Amino acid sequence: MPELPEVETVVRDLRPQLSGRKIASAQLTRDPLISGRLIRYPSPPTFVRRLRGRTIKTVERRGKYIVMPLDQDGERLVVHLGMTGHLRVWEPEEATVKHTHFRALLDSGLELRYDDQRQFGRLLLGQHDELVAARAFPARLGPEPIHGDLTEAEFERLIRARRRPVKSALLDQSFLAGVGNIYADEACFRAGIRPSRWTHRLTVRERRALYSAIQEVLENSIAARGSSIINYVDAFGLRGSNQERLLVYGRSGEPCLRCGTPLQGTRLAGRGTVYCRKCQR
Ligand SMILES: [Zn+2]
Repeated sequence: MPELPEVETVVRDLRPQLSGRKIASAQLTRDPLISGRLIRYPSPPTFVRRLRGRTIKTVERRGKYIVMPLDQDGERLVVHLGMTGHLRVWEPEEATVKHTHFRALLDSGLELRYDDQRQFGRLLLGQHDELVAARAFPARLGPEPIHGDLTEAEFERLIRARRRPVKSALLDQSFLAGVGNIYADEACFRAGIRPSRWTHRLTVRERRALYSAIQEVLENSIAARGSSIINYVDAFGLRGSNQERLLVYGRSGEPCLRCGTPLQGTRLAGRGTVYCRKCQR
């Protein structure tokens, strides 16, 4: 599933292609089951009608959401890629890939398309408060963990206020925005902390190590254009290379790259979790 680094990569790719572009026309898949599932707000016909003629001001990211503020009214087009979603710009004459559910022709002559095989993604259109009121967008999203938006003091305050396993805190989007299963495991390994440890029991040194590790794993992955797990590709259809650098995620039973001990696989917070019994305490 795309997490912060993958979404950030897509956002950076799309920004120059979409900023200032007007949406000349928009169309959704004719399958009402699929469009009803993907368009969380407003209704699919309203979504298409309200999008026509609007200009995309820029492309931003908030957590795992792609946020495109539109001209006037503070409205925004919001896309969550779910597990297998792709938001890409295509030449209009290019054949649509399978599972393309949304297309918007831009005044640049190019076409913005959304495809999603498993349809866990979502598309939203409205003002921020409107989307929150409709429960289509989370009311509380935690701070962004990179770009210096989260100070060490703020991180300490957040993590000490939560009595829960480190892994479930990291996955909680109201705690930190954008971290998912891949980078939670990677950050715990780098910090030498078992994912099952309780947040309020971490020492000052461990909290600092975790704070740095979260930023490192996210920023390194952005530099490598994300991890291509399942079918993730960037806005040009190319795979990232960070999956080759993952130290623990997806490596259960394989030797730890630091000490050689076979890595331990377990379930925590309902998710597959991998750690090293020797390197992580
Ligand atoms: Zn180890």
